[in-house]
Amino acid sequence: MSASPPYREITLKGIAAAPGIAFGRVYVFRKDELVVQERRVAPGEIEGEIGRLQSSIDRSKKELTKILAFAEEKLGPAQAKIFEAQLLILDDVVLFDSVNKRIRYERMNAEFILHDEMEKYFRLMSSARESYARDRAMDLEEVRNRILRNLQEQKLTSRFDGSFVIAAHSLGAADAMILSRNNVLAYVTEAGGATSHMALLARALKIPTVAGVHQVLQHLGEETEVIVDGYSGTVVVNPSPTTAREYRGRLREHEVFEGTLSELRDLPAETLDGHRVTLAVNLELREELDFILKQGSDGVGLYRSETLLIGKEVFPSEEQQFQEYRAIAEAMAPLRVIIRTFDIGGDKLMTQQTRENNPFLGWRGIRIMLDKPQVFLDQLRAILRASARRNVAIMFPMVSNIKEVRLARQLIEQAKDELRAKGIPFDESLSVGVMVEVPAAAVIAEDLAREVQFLSIGTNDLIQYLLAVDRGNDIVSELYQEFHPAVIRFLRRIIERGKGGGVWVGMCGEMAGDPLATMLLVGLGLDEFSVVPNMLPEIKKIIRSIHFNEAKHLADRVLAMDTEDEIRQYLTAVMRQKFPDIPLAQGQPVPERLT
Ligand code: PEP
Ligand code: MG
Repeated sequence: MSASPPYREITLKGIAAAPGIAFGRVYVFRKDELVVQERRVAPGEIEGEIGRLQSSIDRSKKELTKILAFAEEKLGPAQAKIFEAQLLILDDVVLFDSVNKRIRYERMNAEFILHDEMEKYFRLMSSARESYARDRAMDLEEVRNRILRNLQEQKLTSRFDGSFVIAAHSLGAADAMILSRNNVLAYVTEAGGATSHMALLARALKIPTVAGVHQVLQHLGEETEVIVDGYSGTVVVNPSPTTAREYRGRLREHEVFEGTLSELRDLPAETLDGHRVTLAVNLELREELDFILKQGSDGVGLYRSETLLIGKEVFPSEEQQFQEYRAIAEAMAPLRVIIRTFDIGGDKLMTQQTRENNPFLGWRGIRIMLDKPQVFLDQLRAILRASARRNVAIMFPMVSNIKEVRLARQLIEQAKDELRAKGIPFDESLSVGVMVEVPAAAVIAEDLAREVQFLSIGTNDLIQYLLAVDRGNDIVSELYQEFHPAVIRFLRRIIERGKGGGVWVGMCGEMAGDPLATMLLVGLGLDEFSVVPNMLPEIKKIIRSIHFNEAKHLADRVLAMDTEDEIRQYLTAVMRQKFPDIPLAQGQPVPERLT
């Protein structure tokens, strides 16, 4: 690789979306911009317009069915699910009925009405805090664009000869899949982030990807030479021979490091001086189980059972839930699976719509379930039945007082009585736990500890309630600080009081899977970490490379600091020094050194 003058080397930063380092020439993948024009349709043309829409939907179905088959063949059914979800949108009778009705009544063209109608759902879903709702938004957007392209009869070229780094303004999951039929060295996009479906697929396809590189296309022509570093989120345009050598060296180091991560699989999460913690994973969909089992976890620390409600109008029956819970418990056995009872309300899935001025301070989680004892009992019986192998525990979300826990426990006893009466087996000594995600629960942690067998800290909600910051609100998102001194001191309190009360204390919020927080949390005495599956090897690596005393010392220092900046900079400096290979806070600028 050479970059002789007049080419100038330029380094651009983006978001590390799929790991790996690639060297090669660029192929710019261009899609015409979708322009949706508003056009009146004469009464005599309306049926033709509806027919045109239907043909585009049919064509989109054909295309997606092909992509689904290709994805299943290449990646297996679990990863291919993205396209099943997209196909389901094309079968949404309610959506397309209302589009057709509007074309008739409003006498506007199909593109305009379709775009407008789907935009409503898209906005609703994309503003949600829950990742699966935002996933739905991504699918909706991709499907909408596919139908629109078919309506406008746009053609895309997705075949090319040779090996290339594909650069594009944006790529959908289907684009990433289709393009991978060629020899793709890497993906670089101007839009998108690490959590998009496209990034997920790129990781499964093992194609290094950097997303969100601002205006990268301006610097690229056909065949420009680049280096794509999907570990650090860097793209080097026209690299000099010295830079290329440097990156080849980095690539070798990463290969060695990844080799050590996979060696950790069967080793316990314990410090160099033998302090053992439980390292579990958060589970949202059953399809992730294969991947989770390969990662070498100690179990599932949080199964978000409300994902069973996606796309449902009514709550699933006890039997349907039992089948699901049993499949998960069996796949994980003998490892423990903590099933959280439906956490709905707030901005999460609801089977019925309620109007609340302040939904986050409203009817959410356990509050709803206690108000619907029959629904709650169905779920509790289903979980109990799945516990026959003694590896299941139950956890309640959004608890804010002791009474809620006592009422929920009474319902568990009632469910047990009903099963006993029918001679149905279950685990008589099944553990029950409470999520600590409302500040009030944190304050009464020792009282809660007397009622249950474990506490699990839900930092995602706890931080927003403690700091009075809606993390979905861009205006104040900078105030949502994981390392705010109040958060750290609160965590210490929950852990100390909970353990003092005789129970183990875990964490299933995102903070548990943030490498920057690992040493601190070990030092604070956290017993269990439940993390997003792909972060597990890194977190285990950190735990296995430190001494407990050193972590406690670090926690003491952090507890004495009074700003989030100071804490973050200190933790970053420690991590950079001890673990230079572990990427920190993807996409966010992290301070270089202690000031
Ligand atoms: C949390 O609040 O930290 C948590 C794990 O629950 P969820 O993100 O599902 O609200
Ligand atoms: Mg929560």
